Amino acid sequence: MDRQGLVDAPPNSLEAVAAGVDVCRRCDLWRDATQGVPGEGALHAPLMLVGEQPGDKEDLAGRPFVGPAGGVLDRGLEAAGVPRGETFVTNAVKHFKHEPRGKRRIHKTPDTGEVQACRWWLDAERRIVRPRVIVALGATAALAVFGKATPINRNRGQAFQLPDQAQGVVTFHPSYLLRVPDAAAKAQAFEGFVEDLKFAWSLAA
Ligand code: SF4
Repeated sequence: MDRQGLVDAPPNSLEAVAAGVDVCRRCDLWRDATQGVPGEGALHAPLMLVGEQPGDKEDLAGRPFVGPAGGVLDRGLEAAGVPRGETFVTNAVKHFKHEPRGKRRIHKTPDTGEVQACRWWLDAERRIVRPRVIVALGATAALAVFGKATPINRNRGQAFQLPDQAQGVVTFHPSYLLRVPDAAAKAQAFEGFVEDLKFAWSLAA
């Protein structure tokens, strides 16, 4: 299939999503990124975890959640008793949005138009994997999963019915937990994160 076909035809496999994401031009974020980063994990995983976008390491590796935030996510899943093999991890936006600062590439939050453009791919992953529960990690993911702004703190600990039969749950993005400056507050936030993952898994398992 040519590039246009890969982007325009609704994908019906994870391989087609990966091929399409890498040549996608639905918004401008592809221009400064190394590559598109599709989701990965178990086909038909009961639990899908959606983050914001690939970070610096994910952009280089072409895989989601392999950087520091991925380490926090792994620790959270382990503490919550969620088998990693029963999950599918992805992002609301598949290309890394950033700006240069010296030799470093600094993360920039995707805007609403970019999130909406990239829902084409997230919705395809949702159709193909058909998870029972989708966890939105942070506000950008919640915007993509629910299709509207969904404040995290106010909506944690609840399950929301989604049109595709999955239930939606929100929690913090793991990178937020890395940024909490105070050690006690950081530990408390991590505890809350683990509770949210346990709740999501109780709905999915
Ligand atoms: Fe396409 Fe999403 Fe990349 Fe934008 S961020 S170019 S919509 S894959």
